[in-house]
Amino acid sequence: MTQVGIDANPLRVAIIGAGPSGFYVADHLFRQRELVVEVDMFDRLPTPFGLVRAGVAPDHQKIKSVTKVFDRIASRPNFRFYGNVEFGAHVTLADLRQHYHQICYTTGAQTDRHMGIPGENLERSHSATEFVTWYNGHPDCRHCTFDLSQERVAVVGVGNVAVDVARILSRTPEELAKTDIADYALDALSYSRVKEIYLLGRRGPAQAAFTTPEAKELGELMDASVAALPEEVELDSLSRSALERNPDQATIRKIEILQEYALHKSTGKSRKLIMRFLVSPVELMDNDAGQVAGMRLVRNELYATEAGTLRPRHTDQFEELPVGLVFRSVGYRGVPLPGVPFNEKWGVILNEKGRVINPETRQPVVGKYTAGWIKRGPTGVIGTNKPDAAETATCMIEDVAVGLTLRPQQPEVAAAEQLVRACQPNYFTYADWLRLDELEVTRGKAAGRPRIKFTCVEDMLAALGR
Ligand code: NAP
Repeated sequence: MTQVGIDANPLRVAIIGAGPSGFYVADHLFRQRELVVEVDMFDRLPTPFGLVRAGVAPDHQKIKSVTKVFDRIASRPNFRFYGNVEFGAHVTLADLRQHYHQICYTTGAQTDRHMGIPGENLERSHSATEFVTWYNGHPDCRHCTFDLSQERVAVVGVGNVAVDVARILSRTPEELAKTDIADYALDALSYSRVKEIYLLGRRGPAQAAFTTPEAKELGELMDASVAALPEEVELDSLSRSALERNPDQATIRKIEILQEYALHKSTGKSRKLIMRFLVSPVELMDNDAGQVAGMRLVRNELYATEAGTLRPRHTDQFEELPVGLVFRSVGYRGVPLPGVPFNEKWGVILNEKGRVINPETRQPVVGKYTAGWIKRGPTGVIGTNKPDAAETATCMIEDVAVGLTLRPQQPEVAAAEQLVRACQPNYFTYADWLRLDELEVTRGKAAGRPRIKFTCVEDMLAALGR
């Protein structure tokens, strides 16, 4: 058999998921001079970029400029995008095995973790991911509804996603109107009666997962003040010693910012964002109509585990927070893919350095790889995916060198395209996406916004005259 990855016999790779990790894997493969690679990238949405489009907050436009890098990768002649094509629905693993030497799963973490408390499934209790995908115009969530007539809202968790949610709830319609937030969300939020937003951390300020610039930004909102309770932002003795042992400057600055918030006087702004620490929800209360009417909180104290990590422990002190709307923001979670070994506990594809592992033999499955959040779990910023993708791509290249690839019957570009056309005649190419992108930006210009998104697949198809 001719060696795979040379001129006459290019390495054919299918990447499932067009988010940042998918693009970074493609980029790393393309940089190998000695290897001729053809990448076909599949996504169930017609639009690429995963969480850069559907996760990054609309008021964080600068972060989205990373898409220029992805455009450059996609402009390679040996790159193809098959959007609006769902793995497991339109194309199966068996189909892909016919056409590719390697398959790399980069599907991210599409759902969220639960708190596991009574009342969590009441109406007006939502996941942050649902709210985030809604305001970002993801077709799956455009019909979601949130009762923004409630005056008090709790966001559980103090990661960057929780801060995004709290910030979007705190922004004025004027602030939001400058962003690419979905039109329907802009409309709904402009009627919002939300006045108090509680951000709830189960540990102390030194353990808050949000980053320092995000903490600072909360103090710069046009019509929302930010507050914290002095006794909750004062460091306990365990956190103080941990910080003395490891004086991380970003954490020190973050604590200072939170302590400044605790000193804030009333500002006359119409909304208030209250940061709470060392509290855990133990129950969401019902208003007898199946809707959230409040939250029971327990006060926590910190203890050190044997490994030295500071964990929260419930005390016997409780309080009630009269909130009518709750968003849990306690972490994303990966979703299993048909036929792909999955670690249920961690919500990731079973893998070693990106090589998919057979759960029975504990050996790598030939030709199958993974990168990004579905490989390592939902941690890190967009840039974290670059070294992570490089690790996976390195395994892919090593395996090609020793002949460990799938043996596709029809590795030609045209054969794969024919398959896609037969399974999903309405697939989107990258050129289709670029046309859609231009239309969105043009619609946005007229309204002084970065873009106005298409939020339903039918509208995207219609916009391209299909
Ligand atoms: P995260 O950073 O892991 O934060 C999860 C939060 O949920 C933590 O505060 C965690 O507290 C808390 N939590 C977990 N289980 C809980 C429970 N049962 N009860 C109460 N609280 C609980 O996750 P994320 O906010 O979803 O963000 C995911 C990743 O995307 C992060 O790496 C984040 O930095 C990144 N991101 C970055 C940006 C940005 O750069 N602007 C924006 C959005 C997201 P413990 O720490 O106590 O476990």
